[in-house]
Amino acid sequence: MRALRKVEAGPGARLEDVPIPSPGPGEVLIQVEAVSICGSDLHIYDWNPWAAGRIHEFPLTFGHEVAGRVAAVGPEVHHPEIGAFVAAETHLFCGHCRMCRTGRAHICENLRILGVDVDGAFADYVVIPAVNAWQVDPRIPTESASIMEPFGNAVHSVFSGDGSDIELATVVVLGCGPIGLFALGVARAAGARQVIAAEPNEFRLDLAKKMGADVLIDPTKDDPVAAVRAATDGRGAEVVLEMSGVSKVIDQGTRMLDHGGRLSLLGLPVEPVTLDLTDQVIFKEARIFGVTGRELFRTWEQTTTLLATGLVDVAPVLTHRFPLERWEEGFEALASGRSGKVILLPRG
Ligand SMILES: [Zn+2]
Ligand SMILES: [Zn+2]
Repeated sequence: MRALRKVEAGPGARLEDVPIPSPGPGEVLIQVEAVSICGSDLHIYDWNPWAAGRIHEFPLTFGHEVAGRVAAVGPEVHHPEIGAFVAAETHLFCGHCRMCRTGRAHICENLRILGVDVDGAFADYVVIPAVNAWQVDPRIPTESASIMEPFGNAVHSVFSGDGSDIELATVVVLGCGPIGLFALGVARAAGARQVIAAEPNEFRLDLAKKMGADVLIDPTKDDPVAAVRAATDGRGAEVVLEMSGVSKVIDQGTRMLDHGGRLSLLGLPVEPVTLDLTDQVIFKEARIFGVTGRELFRTWEQTTTLLATGLVDVAPVLTHRFPLERWEEGFEALASGRSGKVILLPRG
């Protein structure tokens, strides 16, 4: 089979012919139908400092946002069956640590990530644990199934905390990459009164409009804190979802928050962040949540509901498709910034 692999530390990747892996006990072999490119895949391809510090074993097939059909099952697998159409939960959890044993497997103490710690899905076939294969509702098209994983990040962000604060709230999304764009649609579907998007990239701000944002803020032209206050009678937003990971933007997130508001942090800052904790967090009784992955498997249930019923239409975000052999064009499209989600289709 073909597999897009990192063969050494450094920029680049190589499409190689390798044997089809065989599923071990508790594992399933998936024939890949659609695999979308994540921002982290671009970091692995470019070999940024995060990738260099994180990946040490070569060769490594990368790629993790995948949907496909179960082609074979290993010993001791009773579900899913051969032929089932599934999407992969990419957090490979141990099942026996304190977090796994208390219903928090997505923050497993021994967490491994598909396509980062083990061979991933930019390939014709990928092996995953059977428990990580989520059977896809037949109403969800193949391409949308491949983005259920990042869509789930958006769902988990919107509903973080107890999520009951979304209803009739003003929700701000800071940073409109694909997860931010999905979050706009999820917030709208979950009953937000007003959804506000802030994003410096014009192409993505336009996608934000298509995903249902009522107010669009270009932070290179307008002060986002003032713009959010203007849109909320001076009060600020009840919920801010931070998807950029930019230190200054996180600070702005606390400043545009209403008293008692919630700030959920998904974007990953590369450096320590400076905040005015006294006035912008403590005296406001702001609630701040870290968000990673998806709750297993509550988030997948919510994701299924939102996508299968059409409550959120992700079509505007799925901007590019390429067959696997044209993977380089896919990575270029993502790097250009004039794209939403880029999807590779190994079967053409
Ligand atoms: Zn990802
Ligand atoms: Zn665990």
